Amino acid sequence: MEQTPAIWIKDPLAILADGAERGVVVSQGKIVELVPAGGQPVTAGAAVFEARDHAVIPGLINTHHHFYQTLTRAVPAAMDRELFPWLQALYPVWARITPERLDLAVTAAMSELLLSGCTTTTDHHYVFPAGLEDAVDIEVAVAKRLGMRVLLTRGSMNRSKRDGGLPPDSVVQDEDTILADSERVVEKHHQRGEDAMVQIALAPCSPFSVTTSLMRSTAALAERLDVRLHTHLAETEDENRFCEQIHNCRPLDYLEQCGWLNARTWLAHGIFFNAEEMKRLGRAGTTISHCACSNQILASGCCPVCEMEQAGVAIGLGVDGSASNDESNLMQEVRAAFLLQRARYGVTKVSHKDALRWATKGSAACVGRPELGEIAIGKAADLALYRLDELRFSGHGDALAALVLCGAHRADRVMISGKWAVVDGAIPGLDVADLIRRHGAAAKQMQAG
Ligand SMILES: [Zn+2]
Repeated sequence: MEQTPAIWIKDPLAILADGAERGVVVSQGKIVELVPAGGQPVTAGAAVFEARDHAVIPGLINTHHHFYQTLTRAVPAAMDRELFPWLQALYPVWARITPERLDLAVTAAMSELLLSGCTTTTDHHYVFPAGLEDAVDIEVAVAKRLGMRVLLTRGSMNRSKRDGGLPPDSVVQDEDTILADSERVVEKHHQRGEDAMVQIALAPCSPFSVTTSLMRSTAALAERLDVRLHTHLAETEDENRFCEQIHNCRPLDYLEQCGWLNARTWLAHGIFFNAEEMKRLGRAGTTISHCACSNQILASGCCPVCEMEQAGVAIGLGVDGSASNDESNLMQEVRAAFLLQRARYGVTKVSHKDALRWATKGSAACVGRPELGEIAIGKAADLALYRLDELRFSGHGDALAALVLCGAHRADRVMISGKWAVVDGAIPGLDVADLIRRHGAAAKQMQAG
């Protein structure tokens, strides 16, 4: 690893860590010291970053997204529809993604996430029309350009209308092609170990767009390559009915039959599990990505996060695809999850700290990276710093509570693996106005057909 000088993030306005009142020292991509009240760093020669105007939290981790969907935000034909008709309206538009359009979509999504304070993101890319075979490679290149930590998934669909599935034939691939390419992208891009910046997981889209054979073979391949598994599950009542009709069982039973009910798997949504199923998830170590905005926009339902956590299931947060959210701001997602879950469980059960914990430590469990999501010695130096000098924070008491309660949405500084990825609210080297112009034009062309 390249040598970078240690940095003391000094005297923060507030910090989400015990015993770090005078800040933290980072070196070689890791947090090496927590500096207590009245203390001084013992690390010699650390550069100082004055953080007296910043509230510091662990970098947020996004556990569910579909970057390409930034090209289809607020599309009139898909608005005000529930999941299945919403998907059917959008599949033909998504069939028109090209490599250039995907590059712009991924850059837009990752930039929006970064600027909100997100340091690690997943992406679930499962649309592979002809010509877009290198989708994952394109995403890896953008992540490297922006310096973002990623767990990108090689998604898949192979059950089209022809076979009783939902998607049109133009966006699916056959099983052999999917498995061969899955192995290719893992071998080419997947890094192992605590310093990994790029990882790959395997991710059939959902039980209603993938065959049982592909579900099983993907689980076996993930086991052999030692990578994680991801899919959508228990998002809607429609899906329960589909599963009972086609497979004669509930979605979780189906998942188990396919060899997926284990600690390798994290699932998007997880709304419609019963108490017994939550216990099975907890025992298996399977984790859940809660997508509060998406679930509210599509009126899918509300993930029972408190019962899940009581059953031993780790909960992370995900913004979900920009066609159902339609933004990619993870800090706003923290607030949305806080509001939704507090409305469900009451003021004593859900605090702003719970919502921040889901987006950090909980999300770290989803991506299988216990070295992320916490400000503690030995953990990755992935941090988000927010200034509280905007009008929305004026008059605040507790600075960390204010981030959630007053609606923080833009980080001033973001550090990933000890390096600044956002400086003064901007991504160094990125011309946002130019990106918006090109991304907007690409979206317009794609939607026009
Ligand atoms: Zn999704």
